[in-house]
Parts: sequence; C-alpha cells; structure tokens
Amino acid sequence: MGDDTTAQRLRLLQAEFVQPTRSGPGDGRKATQVEAPAPLNIGIVDRMAAAAAEIDDHMRAVEPPAHTPARPRPANPADRYEWWRHGTAHLAPQLQDAREQVIYRQGLEYDLAMGDTSFIRRHPCPGCGCWGLFWREAQQAAVCVNHYCVDDDGLSRTWSLAHLAQQHIARQKSLKISAT
Ligand SMILES: [Zn+2]
Repeated sequence: MGDDTTAQRLRLLQAEFVQPTRSGPGDGRKATQVEAPAPLNIGIVDRMAAAAAEIDDHMRAVEPPAHTPARPRPANPADRYEWWRHGTAHLAPQLQDAREQVIYRQGLEYDLAMGDTSFIRRHPCPGCGCWGLFWREAQQAAVCVNHYCVDDDGLSRTWSLAHLAQQHIARQKSLKISAT
C-alpha cells in the first residue's frame, strides 16, 4: 500500500517523452510515415532507463521467500514499483526503508526531468531545519540559504536527492509511529 506517486510521475513522463510503439494487429494498410517522429529527449529517456535498471538490480539481489510465488517482472517500468514492493515485503524493515528511499528519490528525479524543482520546498534543510532549500542545477544538489548553515570551508551546505529522500522516509516513519 505504498505511496505510488513515483509510478504516476513516471507514467506522465512516458506519455510525454516516449513515442508509442505501434504493435498488434494492423488495419491492413502499410505503415506510412505521416509526420516526422517527435524528437526524443535523450536525457529523460536515459533517466527512465537508469531508474528501471536500478530496480531490476535490486530485485536480482533479493532471495524470494519460498512460500510466495514470485510475480513476473512487469514490462512497463511504471508497474515495477509495486512489483518491487511485493517481492521485498518479507525483508527486514531497514531494507524496506532503503527501498522506499530509492523509490522516493526516483520520484524526485522524475520531477527534475520534467523541469519541476518545487519539490525542494517540501523538504526542510537536513542541516539546520529551515525551509530555505533551493535547487542548484550546476551542482545537482539542494542548497541551503541560511547564512549560518555552512560547511567547514564557509560554503553553503548542499544535499543530494538521495540524502533528502533518506530524511523524508525517516520523517514519514516517525510520523507514523507517533500517530499510533
Ligand atoms: Zn540549512
């Protein structure tokens, strides 16, 4: 019953950036090129392929439980998040947290791929707790605006998406625990 917004975002990206490949029974006519194919955004296609490969790598490393039949790997990467959750539901809680961190991070990466960095504002700075993070494209990192939140060299502290994802999943978990 996990959060499926990452899968939803991937479906959006697929609809936008992956050309539908026509297959199945034809209508008898020869396929004719009516218009030039839309240019693919290679960066986004690569991003999606890397995310799918990351899930596959994780699943290959998992020993399935003997009593639960393994589900076949879905053809659509957007369906692999549920497949991954199902196939790893028997693992230790910290391994499941690590899985949720990856899923959440991939969702953030899809946002970035769509040019949307507003997700940064939903994350407090892991260093000082302020809500002044912004995304710095050149560094591919979230940067804190707080002048007192600096590293040993006096530079603004920066955070990777993986770090923000780890903090987010930990925060969600503590909210869940305090709500029960
Ligand atoms: Zn900070």
